[in-house]
Parts: sequence; C-alpha cells; structure tokens
Amino acid sequence: MTGIVHLVGAGPGDPGLLTVRAVELIGEADVILYDRLIPPEALSHARPDATITYVGKQGEGPQFPQDDTHRLLLEHARAGRRVVRLKGGDPFVFGRGGEEALALREAGVPFEVVPGVTAGVAAPAYAGIPVTHRDVASGVAFVTGHEDPSKPGTSIDWPALARFPGTLVFYMGVRTLPRIAEELVAGGRSPDEPVAVVERGTLPGQRTLLATLGDVAERAEQEQVRAPAITLVGPVADLREQLAWLESRPLHGRTVAVTRARAQASALAARLRALGAAVVEAPAIRIRPLEPTLPPMGVYDLVCVTSPNGAELLLDRLRDARELAGITVAAIGPGTARALRSRGVEPDVVPERAVAEGLVEALAGIPAQRALIARAAEGRDVLPEALRARGAEVDVVALYETVAEPLSDAARDAAAEADDLLFTSASSVRHFAAAGGALDGPRLVSIGPATSEELRSHGAEPDLEADPHTPDGLIEALLRT
Ligand code: SAH
Repeated sequence: MTGIVHLVGAGPGDPGLLTVRAVELIGEADVILYDRLIPPEALSHARPDATITYVGKQGEGPQFPQDDTHRLLLEHARAGRRVVRLKGGDPFVFGRGGEEALALREAGVPFEVVPGVTAGVAAPAYAGIPVTHRDVASGVAFVTGHEDPSKPGTSIDWPALARFPGTLVFYMGVRTLPRIAEELVAGGRSPDEPVAVVERGTLPGQRTLLATLGDVAERAEQEQVRAPAITLVGPVADLREQLAWLESRPLHGRTVAVTRARAQASALAARLRALGAAVVEAPAIRIRPLEPTLPPMGVYDLVCVTSPNGAELLLDRLRDARELAGITVAAIGPGTARALRSRGVEPDVVPERAVAEGLVEALAGIPAQRALIARAAEGRDVLPEALRARGAEVDVVALYETVAEPLSDAARDAAAEADDLLFTSASSVRHFAAAGGALDGPRLVSIGPATSEELRSHGAEPDLEADPHTPDGLIEALLRT
C-alpha cells in the first residue's frame, strides 16, 4: 500500500507557532524530512523510532539537491510509510512545496498540505508591525529577494513593484538589500519610505532595524544584519514605534539557564519566556521516588511537608486523604502548599519565610507529640532537631532522592553562555558542579540561604538571592537587575 506525504509548515521559529495539526502529524510520522529553518523543538514531538532526515539548503552553504528530496519522498511513500515533509513557515510560500506536490501528483502518491504561519507575516507581527493597516496599506505583496542566480537579468518587474499600492515583504533579501532599495527608489518610491528588517523573527534573538529606503543598505551593513530576515517596505513599518511588544518585555534579550529537574522546570521556564527571556534548560538533577514504609497517619499529630515533590509523593502513598483528618499539616512554602491544595489538602501552617527555620518558628506553640517529616533523602536536619528539642518524637521519612541528571555538552555550553544561571536547590548546585557546569560565567541567582551556602562551598558567590525563597522570589530578583 502506498503511504501518504504531508507537506507541513512548521512556522517561523517560535515553537508556539506550530499548528495543532502539524504537531499531531509529526507525532504520527514514520519518516520526517526537514529543512534548516524549522524550530528544533518541532522534532521533539516525533516518535522515538521515526526516521528523521535533514534535506535542507543553506544560502551558499551545503545544499541537499531538490531532486534527491523528491526521490526520498517517493521512495518512503511507496514503501507505505507516513511521511512528514517539514518546512519552515508555510510550505507553499517560497518553500518549494508546490514543486514537491507536483512531483507527488505525477507519481500518483497521495498528499496533504498543512499551511504554516509564514515568516513574512509573523516576523513583522512580532516586531509590532501589521502588514496591512486601514488607510495606510490596503494590500501586501510577498516577494523573493533572492533571484535565481542562474537566470540572466532580472525576473522581478521592479517598476511594477515600486508602483504596488501597499506593503512589500521581501524574503531571502539580506544580501540583495542594496539592490532592492535602489530599484524601488529608481521606480519612484521615496527614499524616505520606512523599511523594517526583522532578523530571526519570533526567535529569542529577534532583532529589528528600522530605517528608510535611502539608508537601509548602509545601516544593515553597519548593524551586521544576517539571514534569516524579512525586509518590509511601507509606512506600516512606523507603527512599530507604538506597537513593539516583544522587545519591550522586561527580560527580552536575556538568556536564563534553569538547572531544576526537568519535571519542575517547565512552569518556571514558561513564566520566564512570557517575560521575554530565552530559556536554556540544563537540568542537573532528577527526582527518584523511594518506597519507604509509612506507619498509619493516625499515629501522628503533625505532618510536615518540605517540598512540592514530597507533597505529591506523600499523597500518592495515602489511600484516602481522610487519613490526614485531625492532623496538623504544615507546608514549608507556597509551592508546597499549592501542591497539597491541588490534592485536596489545605495546609494548616505555611510560614512566611520558606525555609526550615521559618517553619520551625511558625510551628512554635503548635502541639506536636509525634511528628512526621516527609521529605527528600538529602534534606537538612534543622526541622527534626528543633522538633525533637521540643520533646516531640520525630519520624523523618525520605519519599524520594535527588540524583544527578547527565548534563549534555550542548546544555553545559549553553548554560555557560547564559546571562543568568538559576539554582532552586542546594542539590542542583552540587550536581551541576559535579557534571562540569561552570559557575564562573553567568550571574548566579540562588533561591535561598541553603542554596547560596552550597554555591559558596564551591567557591562561587551568588550574585542575587531570592527573597522570598520561592520561584516567584527568583523571578522578582531577576526583574530587579
Ligand atoms: N516557507 C517559508 C519561507 C522560506 S524562504 C515561510 O513561509 O516563512 C526562507 C526565508 O524566509 C528566509 O531567507 C527569510 O527571509 C525568511 N524567514 C524564515 N524564517 C524567518 C525568521 N524566523 N525571521 C525572519 N525571516 C525568516
């Protein structure tokens, strides 16, 4: 049976701009043939056993011949495989998707086209430029700035383009910028006409140059604008001064590395991204659940939970939340309290300072004959010692241990080049350092005193310490600098 080929657009770079259909098809594909300008995250949706092959072309760099791409498409489809041909942006906008569809048609191979968010609309939008605007631009033209070098003369009707009553959007036009500007002015456009060049649109390093037809070539040279970039010509470019939203985010242009366990990092990473940061995920630790034997909860009058992981794992162990009925439940901080609440347990005690010492203070005056401390294997002893000193019988139960997560070379290098390196626990410092992570490049941001102490023991002074000692506090600390 013949397979099927899906010609899929992957959007301009921001993984959030992949369509739902694209993600679905990537997840089902047997074979993925992809181009250079696709978001790398797109491939993370692929099945682990999928065949993933690069068939891209890069400016003047390595070229994968188009005929070979056609041959591979047909070969895989005829073998009955589900093939995703993944292209940057939209497959039918300067993506040679039309040619591939024709080759499939000719060979009688079924195909489906999944449009994508095209760079010519998305990069301007992320730069705060609507490509059409009432009374300013009632049309938009997508133009290739890269002419086929094998063609003699020019295939673009420059005088007609210059007369086009609307916005001009050039793809692949970085090297030909001087020519574009010159031809448009020669065709009658004013040298004062606004031009925006958006480099790496929708990606963390997005940069926008606002110029005019008269000076754009020179300024792009000075600023060393590089591909991929979209060049937009027209008065809508000036709207950027009022509508730039991305570059005005507080953490725009900053790269923040997060060393937290992968399972916990995503919420923090999402919040950092929403503030404009580029996030490097360099998890140094991983949580490994342990299987301790727990006495029935009824023997305790106080249960202390010292991390969100502890809360999750404790409640996983209980058959019924009512086992905690009548027992004072204490959470070390707001994250742990949230984790308890999400499982239907309202903590009775949450200290203002989210550290063991804060919990000890908050528990003063609260009766405790026999207490359970549910925590990680490698926790500090401040809390059990303080409770014992008050005469309580204390069981410390390790529900999980924190183990090293191997740090890839890429993650280690990316973390070393980040502006800020975030540590949310002493164990992440220890394992990050043990894995060869550098503590001497980026600004070191610690969640609290125990984490800072661990940094100092590795000879590194934290540049910032969060207060409160929570992920919220970490973000506040970043925003202060
Ligand atoms: N099919 C793609 C375009 C492929 S041609 C689409 O619909 O977007 C490649 C050109 O697209 C690049 O030379 C550049 O001009 C533009 N481009 C692609 N990704 C871009 C990005 N993230 N920012 C700016 N321009 C981009």
